[in-house]
Amino acid sequence: MDSRGIKATFFVAVFICNVFLSLQTKEEVLLDMTSSGGELGWLTRPYEQGWELLQTVVNGSMLYTYSVCNVAEGEQDNWLRTNFVQRREASRIVVELQFVVRDCNSFDGASQACKETFNLHFAESDTDYGTNFQKWQFRKVATIAPDEITIKGDLRVNVESRLIGPLSKKGFYLAFQDIGGCVALLSLRVYYKACPATVSGLAHFPETVSSPESQPLTEVTGVCVDHAQSDDTPRMHCTVDGEWLVPIGQCQCQAGYEEVNRTCQACQPGYFKASVSGEQCEACPPHTLPSESGARTCLCQQGYHRAPSDSPTEDCSAPPSAPRDVVATAMGAKLQLSWEPPEETGGRDDLTYSVTCERCGGVSGCLPCDERVRLEAPGAGVQGSALGGVLEGRLVTVSELEPHINYTFTVEALNGVSQYSTHRAIATVTAAIIHMDPPKVTSMRLDDRSTNSLALSWAVSRRALPHATRYELMYRKKKKDSEDDVTTYTVLVLEKSSVTIDDLAPGTTYVFRVQPIASEGSLASYSMEHEFQTLPEEAQGNMAVIVGGAIGGVAMLLIIIIVLLLRKRSRRNPNARQGPEDTYFSSSEQLKPLKTYVDPHTYEDPNQAVLKFATEIHPGSITKHKVIGAGEFGEVYRGVLRAPGRKEVAVAVKTLKPGYSDKQRKDFLSEASIMGQFSHQNIIRLEGVVTKYKHAMIVTEYMENGALDKYLRDHDGEMSAYQLVGMLRGIAAGMRYLSDMNYVHRDLAARNILVNSQLECKVSDFGLSRVLEDDPEGTYTTSGGKIPIRWTAPEAIAYRKFTSASDVWSFGIVMWEVMAFGERPYWDMSNHEVMKAINEAFRLPAPMDCPSAVYQLMLQCWLQDRAKRPRFPDIVSLLDKLLRSPESLKAIADFDPRVSIRLPSTSGSDGSPFKSVAEWLESIKMSQYSDNFLCAGITSMDHVLQMKNEDIRKIGVRLPGHLKRIAYSILGLKDQTSTMSVFAV
Ligand code: AMP
Repeated sequence: MDSRGIKATFFVAVFICNVFLSLQTKEEVLLDMTSSGGELGWLTRPYEQGWELLQTVVNGSMLYTYSVCNVAEGEQDNWLRTNFVQRREASRIVVELQFVVRDCNSFDGASQACKETFNLHFAESDTDYGTNFQKWQFRKVATIAPDEITIKGDLRVNVESRLIGPLSKKGFYLAFQDIGGCVALLSLRVYYKACPATVSGLAHFPETVSSPESQPLTEVTGVCVDHAQSDDTPRMHCTVDGEWLVPIGQCQCQAGYEEVNRTCQACQPGYFKASVSGEQCEACPPHTLPSESGARTCLCQQGYHRAPSDSPTEDCSAPPSAPRDVVATAMGAKLQLSWEPPEETGGRDDLTYSVTCERCGGVSGCLPCDERVRLEAPGAGVQGSALGGVLEGRLVTVSELEPHINYTFTVEALNGVSQYSTHRAIATVTAAIIHMDPPKVTSMRLDDRSTNSLALSWAVSRRALPHATRYELMYRKKKKDSEDDVTTYTVLVLEKSSVTIDDLAPGTTYVFRVQPIASEGSLASYSMEHEFQTLPEEAQGNMAVIVGGAIGGVAMLLIIIIVLLLRKRSRRNPNARQGPEDTYFSSSEQLKPLKTYVDPHTYEDPNQAVLKFATEIHPGSITKHKVIGAGEFGEVYRGVLRAPGRKEVAVAVKTLKPGYSDKQRKDFLSEASIMGQFSHQNIIRLEGVVTKYKHAMIVTEYMENGALDKYLRDHDGEMSAYQLVGMLRGIAAGMRYLSDMNYVHRDLAARNILVNSQLECKVSDFGLSRVLEDDPEGTYTTSGGKIPIRWTAPEAIAYRKFTSASDVWSFGIVMWEVMAFGERPYWDMSNHEVMKAINEAFRLPAPMDCPSAVYQLMLQCWLQDRAKRPRFPDIVSLLDKLLRSPESLKAIADFDPRVSIRLPSTSGSDGSPFKSVAEWLESIKMSQYSDNFLCAGITSMDHVLQMKNEDIRKIGVRLPGHLKRIAYSILGLKDQTSTMSVFAV
C-alpha cells in the first residue's frame, strides 16, 4: 500500500473510536475535528506538500482526516496548524488525538529518514494571526508516538491525550509537525472539564470551571431552590477535574413545603408542615379542620385549642371538665380538701388545680378569705399564699381558719387551654371548722426578781388571741438530788400573760411551765420548762426595788396546790408500766393533767353530779325533728336547740323512754355527768340536760354522719388512706384526752365514734354500768359483766383489768375497722374462736391497702403485755407524723385476700360452694352490683371465676375499693386453701 492508500482506509477507525463522554464531569468542547466537516480550513506548510485533507463517505456521512506520508522523500518538516481556538473559560485544556502511524519497515521504498512519530505544538495568543503562520510562535508540547504501529493493511488506531495549561490568553493554536512519518490524524478533540450545574442539598450550583492556579478547589455558593431556605449559605467545591466535592450546609423546604425530587412542593390538602425542615408534610392531627394545599398548620376545630407552648403538630385539645367529688374534711383546726380528677382532661396531661376561698354568711354575702388563710399541699412545701396558686396534687390542707365560719372553697381544674374558654371548670364545697388551733406559749421571760419573788411574762404564738384567754401557770422548786421524791406543784390560773409570784424561798431555782386555756376551756399543751432563781439573801441590800406582796394584774388567782407523789421509775426496767396510773406518774417530765375525771358514782345523789357537770336546759328550747337512732334508754332524735341568747344549733336529743326505773334514770343521766366533764374537739360535746321535767333528755352536738362503722361501710373504698388516718388521729386525740383525764372508756369501737359533716370523729357513748349493758356487742364473761369481746384486751376479758392500756387495744381494733371500711373484726368467727385465737397469739391481718406503718401500730396496740403497748400520746404523735409526711403511707402492708375478705369468700355460709352470683355478691357485701353482673351475662359462678380485673371494671365497677374487693374475692374463690395461719404474729 502506498501513502495514498493508507490515507483512504483510515475512515473506519475514526467512526468507531470517536465516542467518549465523562458522566461525572462536564466536558466543554473547544474544537472537534470530526464535527467540523470539511470546513476546518487548517493551514499547511509547505503549502500542498505535506499534510492533506482526505474525505471519505461512511454510512452516508462524510468523514475527514489529515494525513501525510512522504516517507520516500528524505528529511521532512510538514506543519498542520489549526484555526484560532477561543479559550473561553478553560484554564487547562485536554488535547485528545486519534491517529494511525505506519511502520517504516513496511515500505519498500522508505528512505532512511522515515519516522514513526510526529510532534504536537502549541501557541497561545490574544489575537488571531490569520494566515500569518510562523513556526517560532509555537512551542513543542510533545512527541507523539504510537502505542501500536500499523503494518500494511492492519490499521492500529492510537489515542493520545495531552493536558495543556495553564492558559491565560484569549485563544490558542495547535500544530502538528510531521518529520518524515506516515501518519493519519483521524480526530482531534480539544476540551476543558467543568463541574456541571447541579442541585445538591436543595441548593442549585451553577456549572463551574475550576482554575488550577487559583486554588486546588474552587468554592462555589449554591442558591436554595424555590420554597427552600437555609441559615448557612450552602457551598460546594469544584475540582479542576470537573468534580464536585465537600458540600457544606444545605437548604430545607419552607413551612408548608416538602421535598419531592430535589424540589420543594406544597403540602397536599389535609397535610401540613409547620417549619423549615427536612421533614415531610404530616396529616392534620385530631380535632383540627382539614387544611388547604401548602398549609403550615391545621386550625383547631371549634371548642378545641392549642396552648401557646403547644407545637402546631400537637392535637388540638379542650379545657378540662370540673374536678369531681370535692370533699372538705375537718381535721381539728384545719380543713383538708381533696377531690378527684375531672372526667374530661381535654386530651392534655398538664392538668393543674387552683383553689380559692371565700367566707360566706352575714349581710355581706361571700367575701374573699383573709390573706392569712394558708394552704398547704403535701410535698409542695408550705405555700402561705397558694390560695389561687397552681396546684398539681389533689389534696390540700387549709389552716388559720376562724371557727364556726362557713368557708366556700372553689376548686378549679385547669389545663394549658383553659385560658381560651369562657366556661370555668369549677366545683365548690362549703365547710367550717369548730375549733381553733390551741394557742402556744412560745417564750417566757424573767422581768424582775427579789429574794422571795419572781416577776415573769410570756408570749403566745397565736394571732389575735381572744381576750378571754386565761393561762395556767404551774411551778415547782427544782429538786436537788438529795431530796426525796415529793414534789409540790403550785398552779395559778391567770387572766393575763404576766405574773409576780412572791413568798418564794431565797436563792432557790423554780421550774415554770405555762399553758393557755382556750376559750372553750380546753387546755393547750404546756410550754417548755423554764427555770428562774430568786436572789440569795445577802443580795437583799443591793436590791433597788423590792417587789411588793401584791400580785398586780392578776384578776383571778386560784391556787391549787397539788402534791404529786412522784414515784421514781424502776431503774431495772424504765419502760415497765403497771397500768395507766403509772403512765401519769412515771416521770416528772410527764405532767399529770390538772383535771381528773370524777366518777359520778362518788356523788350520793347522782342529780347533784348532773347539776355540777351539765347545764340544765328548758325543754321548750328543744325541738325534736326526727328519730335517728335507738339507744338502750330510748330514742335518739335529731333536733334544734334554741337556748336564750345563743345561736340556734343542730343537736342530737337522747330521750329516756317512759316507764323507766330510778336506776335507769340514774344510769341514763350518768352519761351526761361524764360527758359534761369533758371538753375536747374529739369528744362529743354535751349541750345540756333536761332533768327537771318528766322526760329527761341529754342534748349533745349533732353529728351529721352518724356512727363511724356505718359511715365507713356506706363509703367503702371512697376515702384515701390519708383521710382514714386523719380520722384515726382525731379519735386518738380524743382518747389521749380521756386517758389524761384518767377516764377509761371500756367500749371504744367504731360504732361508738360519731362523725360530723366535716368527717371529724368524736368519741361518744360514755356511761358506767350501762356502757356495756347498752352495747349489743357486750357479752357476759366468766369474770362477770358484759364485754365486747372482739374489741377488748385479753386482760380485761380475763380479769376485768380495764385501763387506758386496754382502751389502746380497743383503739387498735378501731384502727382495723377504719382501715377495713367498717368490716367486722374477725368476721364471722364466734367470740369463743376469737378469744382462743388471741390467746394463741393470732392477730387480725392487715386490711386491704392498709399502710404498713398503720398496721404496725395496730399490732403494737395488740401486744399481750399491756405495759408494752403504746400510750395514746405516743399514738397521736405517730399518726401526726404519718400525716405530716403522706409519703410514709405509701408502703402498703401485705394483704392476704383469703383472710381479709369476709371468710365465706371461698364458699357459702354453710361451707358449700356459692350457688349463685347473687349469693356470692351478698357474702362480700357487693349486692349492689348484682344487676351489672346479670346484664353482662355473668350468671354462674363458673363465669365469675373466668373474670379478670378488666372485666370487672367493664361491667361498671368503678370504685377502686369495690373493684379490689370483688377481684380479691375471685382470687380467694380460686384458691380454696383458706386459712387463718397468717394471723400469727
Ligand atoms: P347511742 O345510744 O349513743 O349509742 O346512740 C344511738 C344512735 O343514735 C347512734 O348509733 C347514732 O346513730 C345516733 N346518735 C347518737 N348520738 C348522736 C349524735 N350526737 N349525732 C348524731 N347521731 C347520734
